[in-house]
Amino acid sequence: MENEPVAFHVDVRSQAYCDLSDRIWDTPELNFEEFRSSEEHAKMIIAEGFRLMDGIAGIPTAVGGEFGEGGPVIAILGEYDALPGLSQAAGLDSEQPLIAGGNGHGCGHNLLGAASLLAAAAVKDWLIRSRLPGRVRYIGCPAEEGGSSKGFMVRAGAFDDVDIAICWHPGPMTGVTTPMSLACVETEFTFHGRSAHAAAAPHLGRSALDAVELMSVGVNYLREHMPPGARVHYAVTDTGGIAPNVVQAKASVRHLVRALTLGEMWSLFERVVDIATGAGLMTGTAMSWRQISGEANLVGNSVLERLMGETLQRLGTPRFDAADRAYADAIQSTLDPEDIRKAYANYGLIVKPGQPLSEEIYPAGAGSRDAMGSTDVGTVSWVVPTVQCRVSTCAIGTPFHSWQMVAQGRSPMAHKGMVVAAKAMAEVATALFADPRQIEAARDEHATFRANNAFRNPIGDDVELKLPPRPDVSN
Ligand SMILES: [Zn+2]
Repeated sequence: MENEPVAFHVDVRSQAYCDLSDRIWDTPELNFEEFRSSEEHAKMIIAEGFRLMDGIAGIPTAVGGEFGEGGPVIAILGEYDALPGLSQAAGLDSEQPLIAGGNGHGCGHNLLGAASLLAAAAVKDWLIRSRLPGRVRYIGCPAEEGGSSKGFMVRAGAFDDVDIAICWHPGPMTGVTTPMSLACVETEFTFHGRSAHAAAAPHLGRSALDAVELMSVGVNYLREHMPPGARVHYAVTDTGGIAPNVVQAKASVRHLVRALTLGEMWSLFERVVDIATGAGLMTGTAMSWRQISGEANLVGNSVLERLMGETLQRLGTPRFDAADRAYADAIQSTLDPEDIRKAYANYGLIVKPGQPLSEEIYPAGAGSRDAMGSTDVGTVSWVVPTVQCRVSTCAIGTPFHSWQMVAQGRSPMAHKGMVVAAKAMAEVATALFADPRQIEAARDEHATFRANNAFRNPIGDDVELKLPPRPDVSN
């Protein structure tokens, strides 16, 4: 039986998946509340003939599908969560919420999930025709925006039998994702003191607010002695009250500790806990802490990155047309020139005037450290060799989590980008199925890394998975 290239299997269903992306865009849902979005994915998973996996890791909105028998397992990861306060009408070049204060897809995860499922479906048809052993698995991962769901899924063993993981992210540029992100852990520190009349009996009070303040002073002195690239930021979540004449009996502060590597992050975290202990001792209050979330840094894989790079070079960037460029140009006129300059600078490039859309593939290994955040894909990359790409879906300089990103997420240029991303991921997967020696090489490199770097999941056993109640969707 003659097998078409996997890109053919992407093309024949691309319209249906652009429509899926638009439906997800139309129903923006937050962390762990992606009930309609995951339902839309589940319908496509069933229609494609995948074996449906629902409630992965005990998370109702984590849905996936698997196809194939035996052989290696290649997982393609998707996301579909949105952000609060970013409601915005599609296709405009001005800020115009659809619903005041509503949610919006400010990180393009509508495209992310749809393209990943599209890639998995194409690989499925390619596997049928090739008759090779192997399983392709789509894993829909909810709550990327602050929920660290992939860390919970790793903890539950959802990736234990996966050989390779592939993912992508929409954005202004096209290229292999440079595996640089910060490991992080978010923790709430609470101090319990004793209330008293602040004038009549201050000597009887033990102030929890004093402890919060002293902890901040201690962390500020820590900053000079942190490893390069490390960050600590905080928010006081409970000041203990609004009455200055009452000694505050309870107060809480959240600290988010980040570092370039997991090992550095954990040792810095221990020092922050020591400071909290010290603040409790200084004030005569009792300190307790509770971890909220956390993510490991991204671990690269040179075998997979080389393969992804060659694939992108062959595919080229999305074929944008004059209408795409005109819209991107209009969006750029709403941006700060500094945003545009920085978008280029992040990839070691200088601004190319008159080119609102990226139409070249940025060099491998590009990406500046001052643009680094954290991602829960990082945690997956510690347990499975992982590779990601970025594909251009919006005007250069579009900030993530902005109304401009939402507006462009349901446009022809975004659709073109997601189809290229699906082809890139599908071609990497089929190249690996066709030549399992590359899987072995990728896994060998990963095993060597792990032999030299201890893994402690930032989502430890005691971190609580907080799920919202499923709403009544009987309408
Ligand atoms: Zn994102």
